[in-house]
Amino acid sequence: MLTDRTLGPHVTALRDEVRDFVAAIPRKLLLDMDADLVRFPREFLAEAGRRHLLGLRFAQRWGGRALPWTTEMVALEELGVLGTSLPCLWSLVSIVGEAIHEFGTDEQKERFLTPMLRGKLAVAEALTEPRGGSDFFAATTLARRQGDTFFLSGQKRFVVGAEGADVFLVYGRVAGLGDAKDAMTAFLVERGEGVEVHHVYGLMGTRGGGTGRLVFKEARVPLANVLGGEAGLGRGTEVFHRMMVPERLTSAGGAVGMGRAAMEIAARYADRRHAFGEKIRRFEGVSFKIAESITLLDAARALNHGAARAADLGEAPGTVRRLVSEAKKFATEAAWTVVNHAMQILGGIGYTNIYPVERLLRDTRLITIWTGTNEIMNLVIQHEYYRELLQQPPMGRQVEADAAGAELPDEKVYGTE
Ligand SMILES: Cc1cc2nc3c(=O)[nH]c(=O)nc-3n(C[C@H](O)[C@H](O)[C@H](O)COP(=O)(O)OP(=O)(O)OC[C@H]3O[C@@H](n4cnc5c(N)ncnc54)[C@H](O)[C@@H]3O)c2cc1C
Repeated sequence: MLTDRTLGPHVTALRDEVRDFVAAIPRKLLLDMDADLVRFPREFLAEAGRRHLLGLRFAQRWGGRALPWTTEMVALEELGVLGTSLPCLWSLVSIVGEAIHEFGTDEQKERFLTPMLRGKLAVAEALTEPRGGSDFFAATTLARRQGDTFFLSGQKRFVVGAEGADVFLVYGRVAGLGDAKDAMTAFLVERGEGVEVHHVYGLMGTRGGGTGRLVFKEARVPLANVLGGEAGLGRGTEVFHRMMVPERLTSAGGAVGMGRAAMEIAARYADRRHAFGEKIRRFEGVSFKIAESITLLDAARALNHGAARAADLGEAPGTVRRLVSEAKKFATEAAWTVVNHAMQILGGIGYTNIYPVERLLRDTRLITIWTGTNEIMNLVIQHEYYRELLQQPPMGRQVEADAAGAELPDEKVYGTE
């Protein structure tokens, strides 16, 4: 575990604030959400906003705390113990907020960002279309311009918060602006005429967060709601790449909290539960699962911290993209392994709702799929790695020459001759 001293006093103070907030969330809210009795927990956002815990990274001018990513990751771990739904709603402020903070006009920051940070305006992000989420640039949602008004048509699905959001950040192509990448534009679409929200999903987990389908039928969007205004037209690709940093770091941060929560329950259980006259934690089959889990969680924390630090330092976008994708992939897979280990350690009772591990397991299954599947993370990681690698010759020692046969260049055949 990262120790308090490695985090430093400011970060531990913030962590404790978030911990208090998380501890105060009513158990009933979590249970009602999981039972699909809640459609959208607006009071969660209101309370987080009241405590000044939303959009931690954004400038104080707009209501944020101007904190670094490395601190937000610590906050996310604390929130992650709640599962996926509530941390996702918290993260949406960070994700959509990033787009508005970086690309929005001052007028848009005042209208949208500040009330978001106060917990008074709920937002959702709409990227995925029924025809596919991984191939983002194949999106077919189209905006037709008429003077200073855009008419948006298309569908998005799996939008968390759709049922309660006041504003949707929607990606669509503007007709006449060229190919998908040139035409992609981010719109701040307010709930209203032409915007339908359908509640259609029976989700395995991640319930109660208002996940729905959005249908836009010639929805009127004024130019003032194009992210960045006139200058934002066709900048959707840039917005998308920037937004994928919080999109994926928030998943990575929350994942550690989910794994930690499940493992702590299992480890305490293993210290009390007996079999064959022994505490079950005395059996290697149990204790090694705990050791592996703790190691995976610490490795995920370390990679998360490294990716967050690179983002804070403003490293080259491709490098940040690679590290953020590595963090998302590693942390979500680590969490999946850890929560499964926790269930195995609990035995049969782990499969029941006597313990929350089964809910955490259902929630954790999602995180290797959303915010870009882990297959897409692999695509990004290798792509950015090659881009960095092939830009420069091998550095330092020429290790390739450290082989007895290295002086036989005729044997180095690449099939291109
Ligand atoms: C509960 C939930 C909440 C969500 N929240 C949101 C949200 O708030 N907003 C939003 O916009 N979206 C959201 N999503 C959508 C999510 O991000 C997508 O489901 C995800 O990106 C995958 O897209 P897809 O489901 O269309 O699968 P597809 O893109 O159809 O992919 C299907 C499979 O093919 C694989 N695949 C596709 N292309 C490749 C490739 N090139 N190489 C290797 N494998 C590939 C994928 O990895 C996957 O395994 C949510 C989804 C769920 C289930």
